[in-house]
Amino acid sequence: MLDKRDFYIGGTWVSPRQGRALEVIDPSTEEACAVISLGGAQDTDAAVAAARGAFEGWMFTPPAERLAAVERIGRAYEARAEDMAQAISLEMGAPIDMARRAQVGAGSGHIADFMAVFRDFHFEFPAPHSPDDLIVLEPVGVAALITPWNWPMNQITLKVIPALLAGCTMVLKPSEIAPLSAMVFAEILDEAGLPPGVFNLVNGDGEGVGTQLSGHEDVDMVSFTGSTRAGRLISRNAAETIKRVHLELGGKGANLVFADADEKAVKRGVLSCFGNSGQSCNAPTRMLVQREIYDAAVETARATAEAMEVAPAAQAGRHMGPVVSQAQFDKIQDLIQKGIDEGARLVAGGLGRPEGLNRGYFVRPTVFADVSNDMTIAREEIFGPVLSILPFNPEEEAEAIANDTVYGLTNYVQSSDTDRRARVARRLRSGMVEMNSRSLGAATPFGGMKQSGTGREGGHWGLEDFLEVKAISGL
Ligand code: NAD
Repeated sequence: MLDKRDFYIGGTWVSPRQGRALEVIDPSTEEACAVISLGGAQDTDAAVAAARGAFEGWMFTPPAERLAAVERIGRAYEARAEDMAQAISLEMGAPIDMARRAQVGAGSGHIADFMAVFRDFHFEFPAPHSPDDLIVLEPVGVAALITPWNWPMNQITLKVIPALLAGCTMVLKPSEIAPLSAMVFAEILDEAGLPPGVFNLVNGDGEGVGTQLSGHEDVDMVSFTGSTRAGRLISRNAAETIKRVHLELGGKGANLVFADADEKAVKRGVLSCFGNSGQSCNAPTRMLVQREIYDAAVETARATAEAMEVAPAAQAGRHMGPVVSQAQFDKIQDLIQKGIDEGARLVAGGLGRPEGLNRGYFVRPTVFADVSNDMTIAREEIFGPVLSILPFNPEEEAEAIANDTVYGLTNYVQSSDTDRRARVARRLRSGMVEMNSRSLGAATPFGGMKQSGTGREGGHWGLEDFLEVKAISGL
């Protein structure tokens, strides 16, 4: 079993001052694979003090030096790619090939994108309507970065890299459920040779280190990705010290499949919903299908779900792994039961594990048809491989159903009609809309409306997020 009890504070690995041991569970086997420490207030204070001590030096480091540091991080990240893939696959159950390609690849992409954005970024420029005045963009200060377990390197690089480039110093608290990849990342940053205290890592849970960070007097900003529940608690706790709070929260994405969609659209939608075992905040979990192709779409969804292989994370090839934990497994089972109880039609999957898998948090790829948007499975984020199919007609009804949710992260449209796509995209209340399964490109903004969050990560929006705006006259 891996021993990962230390924290990274002030440029070195240190023993916890108040740590409690926590076992990290491999979701494919339900066995402990590592032990970490959950820190206490003294650990949080030490990490924040290290970040505060390093702030002024890092803030005034020439931008070219900050870029050079991120370039070194990028090289070290590529050199450790296999270690990173193994850590992610072990801690949260991503199938190993998918971990290599998508999970680790997401981090590589963000590092490269932020460097490209930074090279064209201006930290000082004349005020657009008062050219005698100067606008200076300065780092916010000490940032607390709190991340979830589902796409660990995606979320960590979306926060750490722009914070570093902006000139912030930071304390990262990764998910206690999947902390191993974050510790490989801390080793990468150590190897890249940042000044001590610029980057610090403390493991802990939400009630402990998470709450201590969001309420800390010496933390200027919290950037959080996780559940809407925790986002609410963090906002409340941060209000006392008027911190900047950035929130990336849950989603309940709709995928509007029109009768003129291409023939693969339904299959792609199902696979996309089940990607990462359904544990993506932007998963298209509500498939809205135009009535004239509804029966055929339900049949395609059933066949796609039933053809899906579910297997342990270490197995090579394309398949679906387990969900992350017993708690998530139980929550998903409860919601499947609710779907049945509330009268949705179960067409694939259902309760229990897939055949032949008696250990591990494996969930059956599940499809419900004839779902109405007031059912629990259409309203709550399930965060598992469970698709709800709802019929609609006409277009306006699809828009109304899609927007009838507290969330607003990503919606999807499948149609060959260009005018319709342009019209519908503008009416959907979400931070992102993807057409005909075309993913958003490099350095585009990621984030949600309504209870899916505040602010945007990625690209120059992600960098600006860590910056204050100062206006200066009379220079
Ligand atoms: P979670 O909110 O329970 O935990 C996320 C992180 O927040 C963890 O590090 C946890 O320790 C910490 N945390 C929990 N309670 C806290 C508190 N009161 N104060 C401070 N920190 C606290 O979420 P999770 O179960 O790890 O992740 C799943 C959720 O995250 C889903 O709801 C999903 O939609 C959401 N998510 C959103 C995005 C996005 O970009 N919008 C991305 C990934 C995940």
